Amino acid sequence: MNILVINCGSSSLKFQLINSESEKVLAKGICERIGIDGRLTYQAAGSEKTKTEKDMPSHTEAIQYVIEALTDNETGVIKSLDEIGAVGHRLVHGGEKFASSVIITEEVKKAVEECNELAPLHNPANLIGVNACEKLMPGTPMAAVFDTAFHQTMPEKAYMYGLPYEYYEKYKVRRYGFHGTSHSFVSKRAAELTGRPYDATKTIVCHLGNGASVCAVKNGKSIDTSMGLTPLEGLVMGTRSGDIDPAILEFIAKKENLDIEGLMNMLNKKSGVQGISGLSSDFRDLTDASLAGDKRAKIALEVFSYRVAKYIGSYVAAMNGVDVIAFTAGIGENDELVRAAVCSYLGYLGIEFDEDANNTRGQEIELSKPGSKVRVFVIPTNEELAIARETEALIK
Ligand code: ADP
Repeated sequence: MNILVINCGSSSLKFQLINSESEKVLAKGICERIGIDGRLTYQAAGSEKTKTEKDMPSHTEAIQYVIEALTDNETGVIKSLDEIGAVGHRLVHGGEKFASSVIITEEVKKAVEECNELAPLHNPANLIGVNACEKLMPGTPMAAVFDTAFHQTMPEKAYMYGLPYEYYEKYKVRRYGFHGTSHSFVSKRAAELTGRPYDATKTIVCHLGNGASVCAVKNGKSIDTSMGLTPLEGLVMGTRSGDIDPAILEFIAKKENLDIEGLMNMLNKKSGVQGISGLSSDFRDLTDASLAGDKRAKIALEVFSYRVAKYIGSYVAAMNGVDVIAFTAGIGENDELVRAAVCSYLGYLGIEFDEDANNTRGQEIELSKPGSKVRVFVIPTNEELAIARETEALIK
């Protein structure tokens, strides 16, 4: 079966058409600047990437162009829409309502809408993508795969904040966690690589991208993760602060005369390694600058790795041990210096770090030496494939 995987943002729409039997990507691309002007980048497997300017007043036109490209006589990979068996949508926030992926119905859409308040930038945009697909592909089954669902197994002690309980009762203020599709995919693969049963393995997944989170997966279930009510909590990220003393908000608000919107903008967009370095949120820039002697770039990188190592330590405590640690996403898959820095704190776990293996990029590799008590891997994540697998499982 061919499955169209859609990841819809407010002005962009990423897509991949994946064959579920071969798990190969038949074509992929992105629509950008939706609602402004519109540009479609499209690539069929084995062909060159093409970019075309298109008029995209809304997501409906964007999906229309995607379908045209997929079925085009020259660039296309399928003859007609009938060859798309299902659509898998990435949805960011499922609140407490969704502990797994579901087939999309009117009821599901309503329930997702009720979670909009928890992810005001993402959920409404995700739903626009769902509605546009329904309009153009009526009758094709659609699945919703939530970033938060995998973490619904967290126990109360991990998801409750030390805040008045009525905020949880009234507003559902609690920790949810994100990147669930990636944490689930990578932890399963980690168990496979070690030859251990998934339901008897303690794994710590470090999803280190622009947004970054760590997850403790015990016996196949997420029992804790570093992001919270929103993706702002936890690690120091590209531009997000991660954990801070909440009293800083009042202090800075007064000093800099910022209102709550200004503060949130500062925490989400001007903080993290970008804020510390004053230079860039991209780890390639920071590494170059640090090697050239830039002090703040060096501190930013140290703060990032130290925070990751501290989270790993706390999850070893939470699980009373760990069998596998996995690095994934842009930084985890490609930045050997960050991986080495994080692992330099982990000697107490009996990890013997393989410096040579670590000099590889973007590939599945083992970073621990044979005989290492805890095994460490780089496992490239593939959220689209994970969504396609979930979608197929639901359809069947
Ligand atoms: P997201 O999906 O959250 O936008 P990604 O997982 O794509 O993030 O990761 C993006 C980040 O990965 C970039 O900001 C960059 O810092 C880092 N990155 C990508 N390639 C490399 C590389 N070769 N070396 C070091 N860092 C890299």
